[in-house]
Amino acid sequence: MNDSKKLGINTTCVHVGEVKDEQFKGAVSPIYMSTSYAFDHVDVKRYPRYYNTPNQEMLCKKIAALENTEDALIFSSGMAAISSSMFAFLKRGDHVIIQQVIYGGTYNFIVSEFDKYGIEYSFTESDKIEDFKSLIKANTKILYIETPSNPLLGITDMKAISNLAKKHSILTMIDNTFASPINQNPYNFGIDIIIHSATKYMGGHSDISAGAVAASAVHIEQIWKTAINFGGNLSDQTVWLLERSLKTLNLRVKTQTENAQTMAEYLEKNKDIDNVYYPGLQSHPQYKLAKKQMKGFGAMLSFELKEGIDAMKFQNSLTLIKPTMSLAGLESTTVSPTQTTHALLSEEERLERGIKDGLIRFSVGIEEPKDLISDIEQAIKKVKK
Ligand SMILES: *Cc1c(COP(=O)(O)O)cnc(C)c1O
Repeated sequence: MNDSKKLGINTTCVHVGEVKDEQFKGAVSPIYMSTSYAFDHVDVKRYPRYYNTPNQEMLCKKIAALENTEDALIFSSGMAAISSSMFAFLKRGDHVIIQQVIYGGTYNFIVSEFDKYGIEYSFTESDKIEDFKSLIKANTKILYIETPSNPLLGITDMKAISNLAKKHSILTMIDNTFASPINQNPYNFGIDIIIHSATKYMGGHSDISAGAVAASAVHIEQIWKTAINFGGNLSDQTVWLLERSLKTLNLRVKTQTENAQTMAEYLEKNKDIDNVYYPGLQSHPQYKLAKKQMKGFGAMLSFELKEGIDAMKFQNSLTLIKPTMSLAGLESTTVSPTQTTHALLSEEERLERGIKDGLIRFSVGIEEPKDLISDIEQAIKKVKK
């Protein structure tokens, strides 16, 4: 366990993994931009693609502390983290079980790359444990989950998944991006490898691309061996920005999570809106499970506009909330899954997955909910006119 376990969350965010400025005693981490380090009389041979420059190495300590793991690695994107982590544990002839509803980029990675390397995969039909169980084969090496999932905020039972996997000596991986380390620590529920697109909450300002993996020292060592070959390391300037972002991670995500709860409760009462999907609502089918495994319910939610209110017209009528592709910045944004993440599916396939044309995914920011509510109300009024 980490020494930093004793520290409070904000203290961890600010102080764990600082690079000490021994020369000038400045208050913040200096950036070491060197790509060339001494090889003689040193304990570590440092190089950016070895993922061990001073800034890279120290930031990993902060991320490990946030996820309560022994170690971590940082990457140039969430997909670099996901692909390096999966390939680190897979070889020709292995089999992977993947939750049906996962991030589109991960889905694309699996269906377009795995066949080439002779790696088998199966997608579950739901996020239920029986579904994962029925797909296990002798060559199954990884169970891969994402919870809460995109865009309907489904919840997968992490403890049940890890118990099932341990019984069969299978490795478990989770994409923990939507929850962030503030709202969910999967390692405490027995999940082996925790992955983040740090482009989202960890970065938090919609201005850097990065990824992170947290796990035991042994697992991180194995991922590292593959990662140095794929070379998805993060530049030290971006490492520095990510460290700066993480100092306010808890402040940001806590406020965003509180705002999301307020907005979900408001939207549920709004007569122009049908279903609201948010794990913090008692109406969410897995509310109890979410409560058991999440520290907070997160800041992502989805809602359906009533028939007759066009989703694109609605989004284009918003003045404060921005319709954008990505998520998790401190500004509120929306996306229309039918137009973006699920545009390549047929209408029938979309409906099978519960994605209606009026569905809006809402990434709730730090703005005051009263301002977000006025924006939504004026937009609905404009569209209905
Ligand atoms: C964005 C995202 C990713 C991919 O991250 P990149 O930084 O874009 O490579 C993976 N998983 C989830 C849940 C995401 O939202």
